[in-house]
Amino acid sequence: MIQIKSDEEVEKMAEAGRITALGMQAVAEAIRPGVSTWELDRIARRTLNKLKARPAFLNYGGFPGSICASKNSVVVHGIPSRRNILREGDIISIDIGAVYGGYVGDMARTFPVGEVSEEAKRLIRVTEEAFWKGIEFARVGFRLGDLSNAIQEHAEAAGFGVVRDYVGHGIGEEMHEDPAVPNYGTPGHGLRFEKGLVIAVEPMVNLGTWEVTTDDDDGWTVRTADGKISAHYENTIAVTDGDPRILTTI
Ligand code: MG
Repeated sequence: MIQIKSDEEVEKMAEAGRITALGMQAVAEAIRPGVSTWELDRIARRTLNKLKARPAFLNYGGFPGSICASKNSVVVHGIPSRRNILREGDIISIDIGAVYGGYVGDMARTFPVGEVSEEAKRLIRVTEEAFWKGIEFARVGFRLGDLSNAIQEHAEAAGFGVVRDYVGHGIGEEMHEDPAVPNYGTPGHGLRFEKGLVIAVEPMVNLGTWEVTTDDDDGWTVRTADGKISAHYENTIAVTDGDPRILTTI
């Protein structure tokens, strides 16, 4: 069931979103060669707790981390680990969620670690661009398929693969609410946008094939099937009377 938010609820979600973005900023500032993804997880948890928020991912479905830290060919749900040390030339996707005042914020970014390849830079850039192309349609008068298709077209035009198995989602008091927000779709189809719809839009774009696999040993880590790198860009946004509003921002 889709839950349309009141203006008051959207304001509360903007608070949760701001705190999520502050958590992301603290993690981003710590990213450098030599740091472990476990250290990044600690920074995220400490920052959110200091702001009287709770990491939304910790224990969600049994997930053991406060962030997802997904390096290189890991698409999503990378578990923070002391043994996972960032090296010059890696790319690292950080997905962070915060619960504050009863509402959830959810966002993701992919960061270069030191100097990275031109193709890695292009993948990160195109993934972010696909997000912005998509949300141009998060307006009254358009439909979900318009947004989904814009993301897909932009990423595929660049020669990249758009992940199918993981998608964006409605968000509110729960991290995952209806509707599902795919990063691929058909224009003119799907849910009609209305004011007060709050969704997490999150293209996951692979350098090569869109296909992914999940590690058997931990049941979480999602990797590209061909071992090539992947990028992720996500914000929680609200549909308004006018332009879409980014809630996960400082
Ligand atoms: Mg999400």
